[in-house]
Amino acid sequence: MFLIKSPASKNYQKSNSITSVDFFVSPKAKKAADDIMNSKKTADRQMLANILIDELDNNAGLEKAKVKISDTRQYHKKYNGRVVAKRYGYYRPKSNYIYIQNLTAVRGQILAPKTFLNTLLHEWLHHYDYRKLKLNSIHTKGFYLRLRSLKDELCV
Ligand SMILES: [Zn+2]
Repeated sequence: MFLIKSPASKNYQKSNSITSVDFFVSPKAKKAADDIMNSKKTADRQMLANILIDELDNNAGLEKAKVKISDTRQYHKKYNGRVVAKRYGYYRPKSNYIYIQNLTAVRGQILAPKTFLNTLLHEWLHHYDYRKLKLNSIHTKGFYLRLRSLKDELCV
């Protein structure tokens, strides 16, 4: 793991050097992202996430990722009564599986649409990294620039 995360590794350098996504984002994907920005219920978000992820996989020419939006609280750790670590979702490369929890860690409120969409796109970008860029996907500056470029393409 040390070698993978080392700035000297090829994986790190490649991840850091690619600063945008390189595929055409369809109007259908933009519409789904826009609808997510106006969504609240977990069931609606599940349906819209299926459409968006399916469409992004089509647009980018990737094998299909599966998405599960859970009506549960985000996982978190506490230290001295304060939340010190939150996890909004995860991606499992072996099974192309994206999992997101739609309720906030502490109060159990529905995630703000922007937070939800950001989390969904973040996890999907890991899928893109693994399947398209053949990276061991890690959080380099390049990763966040790719995420920014994807959001720009989606107009969100
Ligand atoms: Zn991540």
